[in-house]
Amino acid sequence: MRVPPGVSSEDFSSALTQFENAIGKEWVFTSEADLDLYRDSYSPYWHEKEDRVASAAVAPDSIEQVQKIVRIANTYKIPLWTISTGRNLAYGATSPAMSGSVVLDLKRMNRILEVNDKNHYALVEPGVSYFDLYRYIQEHQLNVWIDPPDPGWGSPVGNSLERGGGRTPMRDHFASVCGMEVVLANGDIVRTGMGALPGSKTWQQYKYGFGPYLDGMFSQSNFGVVTKMGVWLMPAPDAYRDGTVMVPRHDDLIPFIETISCLMDSDILRGTMMLESPLLDYRVAQGGTAFDMPGGPSAEEMERIGREKNLPYWSAELRFWGAPRVIDAQWQYVKEKFSVIPGSTFKDGRYYRFPTQIKETAADLLVALGIPNLSVFGLIQNADGHLGFSPIIPMSGETIFEALKVYGELYAELGISPRNQFTALPWSYYPRALLLLFGVSIYHDVEKNRRSREIFKRLVEVSAQHGWGEYRTHVAFMDRVADIYSYNNHALHRVHETLKDALDPNGILSPGKSGIWPKRLRQFKA
Ligand code: ADP
Repeated sequence: MRVPPGVSSEDFSSALTQFENAIGKEWVFTSEADLDLYRDSYSPYWHEKEDRVASAAVAPDSIEQVQKIVRIANTYKIPLWTISTGRNLAYGATSPAMSGSVVLDLKRMNRILEVNDKNHYALVEPGVSYFDLYRYIQEHQLNVWIDPPDPGWGSPVGNSLERGGGRTPMRDHFASVCGMEVVLANGDIVRTGMGALPGSKTWQQYKYGFGPYLDGMFSQSNFGVVTKMGVWLMPAPDAYRDGTVMVPRHDDLIPFIETISCLMDSDILRGTMMLESPLLDYRVAQGGTAFDMPGGPSAEEMERIGREKNLPYWSAELRFWGAPRVIDAQWQYVKEKFSVIPGSTFKDGRYYRFPTQIKETAADLLVALGIPNLSVFGLIQNADGHLGFSPIIPMSGETIFEALKVYGELYAELGISPRNQFTALPWSYYPRALLLLFGVSIYHDVEKNRRSREIFKRLVEVSAQHGWGEYRTHVAFMDRVADIYSYNNHALHRVHETLKDALDPNGILSPGKSGIWPKRLRQFKA
């Protein structure tokens, strides 16, 4: 039997018996076969002693059962690792930050409590997946869209708490959260925002309630177990269209991104923009990389190839949702704005008026149409998995040039090919900043993973030297990433730990989450 750190086998056995009494024997998992399902199949410590493995898992189906579990955990000082549907792949999946934690698996709490298509929101439990919510809306013919991530598994609760993103105008998932119900470490139940007002009629319509706004505290944190969440949805649009903007020269990227930024901040461009480069794609297809490796071709040489092959340097597919005459005018206006860049060209894309039967299978389009799917897994090549490396960078062409050079030099220094990194170019998951999303390859091979971890650590370190920090990270690297947010001698981290010790004095909730350790377990900080 695996036992949580600092807990005797006798105490752990007693706790397991009490868990069984509280939620039923069949929902307490201790066998190796069951616990293997809570391993991270993309673990950077695959089959090494540092791999994060659970000592047991418990799956309650009600808030009362969650309260009972939390109280038992307090009695025996059992660390619990909360998950919703546990699809956090590339960031740890179902595995805890501290080995030996008991996974508190909320997948059975999967009730869709309300979907309102007049004020456009849903109230859901943690085990409700994006597929569940999508199907429910379809079956009830409700006039709202969800915003799934790609891949579209996972849950609105888990993904929003991790501050994940999608592609529609509701892409910033945490920004769409409105009202939570949370079980605290002491078993108390808190409703945030208007939910604190008994009989409130606006829990899912007005986020802030009265007094300090606490919802952010429960995201990427270990301060509570979220048992209900309000999520804003998008009114089902009348139509969708997309179009591609292309510019020919290297330096065109600077006005290109400035224009995107202005249009986005003016609410004319909505949804996620993925920067693309047909010319750099060509270079990759020829065996090169999209990064600027030392000794690689100059911008002028690339531009010459672009002219020869008729390939634009930069492009982006822009998307529009709404009434046809509005989105037509938006696309027209966008074209006018980009036309000031000499040589810019445009291509009309797909156009749908709803309701319609979508025959397309392109994964990115489905996600942009609010349809969850799993096609993105086709991206993984030559590896058994990947670690998500995802720094936030400024929305500027100059920074993108800098990033291509910085990471190109880093890969050269490490002596590895950056070919299998998904994309070198950023996305706009969030308003006003860009996100880079690299996948550092993971293997079922100890030596190769040692190398991948070194690469990952260097990526974090070098990014921080440029003022770029990750938005989210794998459980094995939470301490390291938390460490770079070190302004004023780690003042933010000290606040996190002060809150942790006040709210969870026995340190039972998700020790190590986001680098936050309770006092009694701080020796486990990496
Ligand atoms: P998803 O349901 O989208 O697959 P996960 O269940 O993998 O998301 O959750 C991602 C992370 O978010 C977890 O590792 C955990 O740290 C945190 N988390 C998930 N659900 C909850 C919850 N209900 N309360 C508090 N934290 C949670």
